[in-house]
Amino acid sequence: MTTIDDFRALTRPSVGGQVDLSIRLDAGVGVPSIVAVLSENFGREEKLKVIKLIFDENEVRYILRTDFISSTLPGAFSTTRGVGHADGVTLPGAGMSVTFIALCCPVEGCGKMLFVTSYDEDDPPLCEDHATPMTPCDET
Ligand SMILES: [Zn+2]
Repeated sequence: MTTIDDFRALTRPSVGGQVDLSIRLDAGVGVPSIVAVLSENFGREEKLKVIKLIFDENEVRYILRTDFISSTLPGAFSTTRGVGHADGVTLPGAGMSVTFIALCCPVEGCGKMLFVTSYDEDDPPLCEDHATPMTPCDET
């Protein structure tokens, strides 16, 4: 069983350059759910090289696409497999997986995105560039 510490070992304390996509990992979010949201984002956007991770709301880490793809995390190879792969990976505990909500900055031209498992609609997270409240991406 892959633990959160196994996953954390893949991450880095800092990377160069700007990172637009952040994922907030609240306590209790399991590794299968983390792998699923990373696979989805790295799979959807080929140019995406690094994702910022916020553990327990304050510890910032980064995961590189290359580190993620070459890792031995169950399911982490799914982004490199074609559709129709016969014996697709079934994530352990996938039935209990959490759903992430994508939040976007409403400022035009700002590409910041933040994935959270929950947030307070009356006090939403702020864009780190603009300090504007972020809103669900499909409403902008
Ligand atoms: Zn912004």
